[in-house]
Amino acid sequence: MFKFSNEQIERYSRHIVLPEVGGMGQTKLLESKVLLIGAGGLGSPAGLYLAAAGIGTLGIIDQDVVDLSNLQRQILHGMSDIGRLKVESAKETIADINPDVQVITHTERLSSDNALEIIGQYDLVVDGCDNFPTRYLINDACVMLGKPNVHGSIFQFEGQATVFYPGKGPCYRCLYPMPPPPGMAPSCQEAGVFGVLPGIIGNIQAFEAIKILLDIGEPLIGRLKLYNGLTAEFKELKLRQDSECPVCGENPTIHELIDYEEFCRVQW
Ligand code: ZN
Repeated sequence: MFKFSNEQIERYSRHIVLPEVGGMGQTKLLESKVLLIGAGGLGSPAGLYLAAAGIGTLGIIDQDVVDLSNLQRQILHGMSDIGRLKVESAKETIADINPDVQVITHTERLSSDNALEIIGQYDLVVDGCDNFPTRYLINDACVMLGKPNVHGSIFQFEGQATVFYPGKGPCYRCLYPMPPPPGMAPSCQEAGVFGVLPGIIGNIQAFEAIKILLDIGEPLIGRLKLYNGLTAEFKELKLRQDSECPVCGENPTIHELIDYEEFCRVQW
């Protein structure tokens, strides 16, 4: 059993008194390794709460620098971070919240060349990316490695979250076999996004990640949670695994990572 310092007992006291967490659960969190893909709108709240909760190792992959237009929602970063790498800014913010967390920064774009090696170092992935090629890449790599992938995405005033857990439920391709035609799914830059929205969806992702690590509650496996901020309505869609899925189906045809930029271009 992990030996808590007096400071840790105090820091995590509100977790430790919860029967579902306790000292054992907090130990599990401190020994967990989570990879945050993107330190932007979704990655900011997810990263802050995962760090505060005492996830022992938090990997963050992002190659962007902080821009003034990010600060409307990307709460890991502040004015003094403009122009700095997001991973560096995130690491500093997290160190101030919880020095127990070891932050590993990956200043590169997740690609077919590095995805298996990077994701392979972690227990679980929190997908906070903002583009379709990366989403398919994360999905396929997580299926191949058997790693849970806590998915979230946002658009204007609406967001969605679910958990893709290989062997226990559907994957992203079961849900979306084909990427949208280029130009049909505008980015946040093009279409806008309400700043509070990623705070809600990113926190659902953080909550789901911790539930999986602790093996408590009912994770969003095979359930797509949809949130409309304007009507304040949550809806849920049941998802099922597609036996014909090219990556997690009965006869998979994708056995290695492909060129995802190309995949998202040439389908249409
Ligand atoms: Zn699938």
